[in-house]
Amino acid sequence: MYSIEWQKRGLPHAHILIWLVERIQPDQIDDIICAEIPALETDPDLHDVVITNMIHGPCSAINTQSPCMVDGKCSKRYPGKFTAETITGNDGYPLYRRRSTNNNGRTITTKVKGNNFVVDNRWIVLFCTAFKNNQDTLQR
Ligand SMILES: [Zn+2]
Repeated sequence: MYSIEWQKRGLPHAHILIWLVERIQPDQIDDIICAEIPALETDPDLHDVVITNMIHGPCSAINTQSPCMVDGKCSKRYPGKFTAETITGNDGYPLYRRRSTNNNGRTITTKVKGNNFVVDNRWIVLFCTAFKNNQDTLQR
């Protein structure tokens, strides 16, 4: 089951519901979904797409006027928390790996209201990596 939505920024996105026969393990989740800045050295195309399109805000105290802010808090729950590895909880929602710089996490520097701001993995919007090893197919 799926539905495709178009939001204000122009790119469509899909909500897809999939039932798995067997419970997925955390390392298998990391092969499909990522919430981290990809390595520029090994995957420059994905790195560019993620830093261009998949950074939330920044909002919160850095930018209290961001559209996601409701009652002084980010309504999308950013920034996320650093997590050394993906953890599957009992509620069905995993905590995705978001490594800190102390644990090989990457950062980029961007401008927020004219000031430099270091974006780490707490600000990365989840993205699908299932096709990462299949780029020839995607480029056709
Ligand atoms: Zn926000």
